[in-house]
Amino acid sequence: MTHIPHGDHWIAGRKTRSEGRFSSAPATGTSHEFSAGTPALVAEACAAAHAAFPAFAATTREERAKLLETIAGEIEARGEAITAIGSAETGLPEARLQGERGRTTGQLRLFADHIRKGDYLDHRHDAALPDRQPLPRPDLRMIQRPIGPVAVFGASNFPLAFSVAGGDTAAALAAGCPVVVKGHSAHPGTGEIVADAIAAAIEKLGMDPRIFSLVQGGKREVGEALVQDPRIKAVGFTGSLGGGRALYNLCAARPEPIPFFGELGSVNPMFVLPEAARARGKALGEGWAASLLMGAGQFCTNPGIAVIIDGPDADAFAEAARAALANSQPQVMLTDGMAEAYRQGAARVAAGAGVRALLAQDCSGRTSLPYLFEVSAADFLGNHELAEEVFGPLGVIVRVGDAAQMEEVAASFGGQLTVTLQLDDGDADFGRRLLPIAERVAGRVLCNGFPTGVEVADAIVHGGPYPASTNFGATSVGTLSIRRFLRPVCYQNLPDALIPEDLR
Ligand code: NAP
Repeated sequence: MTHIPHGDHWIAGRKTRSEGRFSSAPATGTSHEFSAGTPALVAEACAAAHAAFPAFAATTREERAKLLETIAGEIEARGEAITAIGSAETGLPEARLQGERGRTTGQLRLFADHIRKGDYLDHRHDAALPDRQPLPRPDLRMIQRPIGPVAVFGASNFPLAFSVAGGDTAAALAAGCPVVVKGHSAHPGTGEIVADAIAAAIEKLGMDPRIFSLVQGGKREVGEALVQDPRIKAVGFTGSLGGGRALYNLCAARPEPIPFFGELGSVNPMFVLPEAARARGKALGEGWAASLLMGAGQFCTNPGIAVIIDGPDADAFAEAARAALANSQPQVMLTDGMAEAYRQGAARVAAGAGVRALLAQDCSGRTSLPYLFEVSAADFLGNHELAEEVFGPLGVIVRVGDAAQMEEVAASFGGQLTVTLQLDDGDADFGRRLLPIAERVAGRVLCNGFPTGVEVADAIVHGGPYPASTNFGATSVGTLSIRRFLRPVCYQNLPDALIPEDLR
């Protein structure tokens, strides 16, 4: 089954064509023409979302759960076509797209279950104490309520799970917030067919079509207009630090500033503790290389930096990683621009003082080959740029002199999505010293594994202090992510006749 893109936006239940056009740049297959977004279309979509909000906020949890499940079903009904166009546009293998589709529909159904249970409402009740002295206490009830229309920006590297019907859209619709998606210009056809699925689900259920719009990109002014539209009450963004920071600044500068939930890049440092390095340095080097190579290194959880105590165990670790990386095949990157940015990032690291290249290969066009560098702790600590994300299969080994210096390096990192500790039983004392440092840095601390691969679950945290995310109190993956699009409202002395269903 193939999908020939219609190239239109979806504005409040209508396919809408605009005069400006842009062409997709797929990794394989034919390029297609798409309507380019405009500020006027953004305003139309936001006005519709605003008008739909009161009634959508008042829908029952069961109605919204059915909506999420129906969207999942409509995505599955288009499964093969989504895989075909997604793989062509991004260069990601079909198996990866199939897996990501399962994750996306699974996440929609997880949110359906989550809102049915109702725990997310965080219902609190302080019953009235009319006889309390010196003053009576009123009856106080609190629940979480939806905040209003939400703008969603997906990332290029997850064209399904972090895009049109990804975690942000699922969480917002589950909460009762209409959604306006700004389409990603790296996968407009994938975005379009998923939007078709959402529109079909809304129509099937007879719900208000104004609760969802997709405005294709094509120009920066589309995203800028979206975050500045006064009817938008929060933004869910997944993407680069540069793009996220630019849009975050616009949100903060609005007459009514709004929360910007930006999930940004990370270098996800991995610390190899001495006993683990001694017992399994070679295996850890190979495992690290495999994690670096996944998806051509285009994961926000790519473990770009490994920190290890200098010596023969570090040599074994580095050599195993180098050999595994040197054996890998070229991989297609998401866009030409990303391939170019990757090479520039590698050149920046290579030029750092004291940096030695263990593996540097020529790659051209849209393909990538891995790079491996090493540097002493002193040189690493003296050069902040080495701790910045290079989006692609690039690893930096930081050789520290001793455990104390490993702690110093750990404390030097800015906010991270993940920190990994590789440790054996004999490392427990040192691990206990590193853990509080790791938890101050990262949203997720993991032991004896690799951070690529994020479980969609109740206890997952995919976020972290800035610059991993712009909002350290939030996660963009898992059921807790619904809290981003809710705010607590306290109802004092509400008569029975007014008590909404969720408060009962
Ligand atoms: P990106 O270039 O920042 O693009 C994301 C979205 O923001 C796109 O829609 C893009 O529009 C828009 N945008 C970017 N800069 C903008 C600006 N200055 N003004 C207005 N709109 C702007 O990110 P990406 O390249 O797609 O994704 C890769 C990055 O995402 C990596 O850094 C990766 O680590 C990060 N990421 C993070 C997570 C996480 O959960 N933390 C997950 C996945 C990826 P256009 O379509 O016009 O480019």
